[in-house]
Amino acid sequence: MDRRDFFKTSLMGAGALAAASAPAALFSACSPKAPVNNTPLRLSFQHGIAPGESLAEKFDFMEKLGIEGYEPGGQYLLSHFNEIEQNLRGRAIKVSAICAGFKGFILAEDPAVKAEFDSTMREIVEAAGKIGSTGVIMVPAFNGQKPCMPHTMETRDYLCEQLHELGEYALKCGTTVILEPLNRKEAFYLRLVSDAAAICRDAKSEGVKCMGDFWHMKEETSDYAAFMSAGTEYLRHVHMASKGDRKMPGEHPDTDRYVEGFKALKELNYPYYVSFECGCGGDREVLVPAAVELLRQQWTEA
Ligand code: MG
Repeated sequence: MDRRDFFKTSLMGAGALAAASAPAALFSACSPKAPVNNTPLRLSFQHGIAPGESLAEKFDFMEKLGIEGYEPGGQYLLSHFNEIEQNLRGRAIKVSAICAGFKGFILAEDPAVKAEFDSTMREIVEAAGKIGSTGVIMVPAFNGQKPCMPHTMETRDYLCEQLHELGEYALKCGTTVILEPLNRKEAFYLRLVSDAAAICRDAKSEGVKCMGDFWHMKEETSDYAAFMSAGTEYLRHVHMASKGDRKMPGEHPDTDRYVEGFKALKELNYPYYVSFECGCGGDREVLVPAAVELLRQQWTEA
């Protein structure tokens, strides 16, 4: 027996001796248990998700399901501000985020289009702050929006500078701007949550945040890693849809698994909303509650 074998044998012997003499209760008390994670799943619906004609009907439906957030579009927010505010009064539902609604785009080459973005986005940001939204969702440039600044280092620097100004304005209004990465078919400029998070970091404003959308996140190699890369500092919102065809979660049981992403959200103690942005392949009265139930099961599983 060489020296290494001697130590190995001695240590094994000491371990066995300790195990034999220790009371069983001591082992059960010391055995590692997975800590219970009580992070709640806070669900939100975009305007079109709940059945119902009026806001009151939609909010009644949402309340019955325990939905905590409502995500209107920016134009709808501006045109129905008082109605939204009145209908939310006394309810356990808050505005989660505002989905875009501005005109123009931030990377427009045409100064008139850029100016249109600046003014309409700021108008929506101001209303979003007043109504207590976590932020206003935006995409830097869709593939179809042209002429667009070229995808270069200079453009990225420009984007960060512009976002800094916008983020500081949003902070003054009591809200944020939230970058949404899409997929390559819709917006080649920004496709990954980690890239959006890096832009948030480089924009150097607490008012610039990002989000993940489970539908677009098919671009990602890992839902878990994507959310973790944004972390608590930058992740402000999440969109939800069936991964199969962007309809209700659960319509494609083979693809509609969110557990890996949910694991990250739970580990981050993610305090914001997971908001339905999706179509519906059938009766909303049936498919929407089924989707909510499915997500709650998978959240528990995560
Ligand atoms: Mg989305």
